[in-house]
Amino acid sequence: MIKIQVDMDTCQHYGQCVFEAPKIFHLNDDDKLEYLAEVDDDERGNVEAAVDVCPMQAIRIVE
Ligand code: SF4
Repeated sequence: MIKIQVDMDTCQHYGQCVFEAPKIFHLNDDDKLEYLAEVDDDERGNVEAAVDVCPMQAIRIVE
């Protein structure tokens, strides 16, 4: 399993991570980011893509 943390104080809810990894990240009806804190290892590539694309560098993979 991969653990994910998003700094919600830093996140600006732009949603780039949603495009990279829609199974993990999504914007709710209030346009606030929601995400899965634990995902299977086979999602690692998508998580890393989300980390790379986040303009606020708000996403961290916690090993
Ligand atoms: S890309 Fe970064 S700033 Fe944008 S919603 Fe995702 S975590 Fe938040």
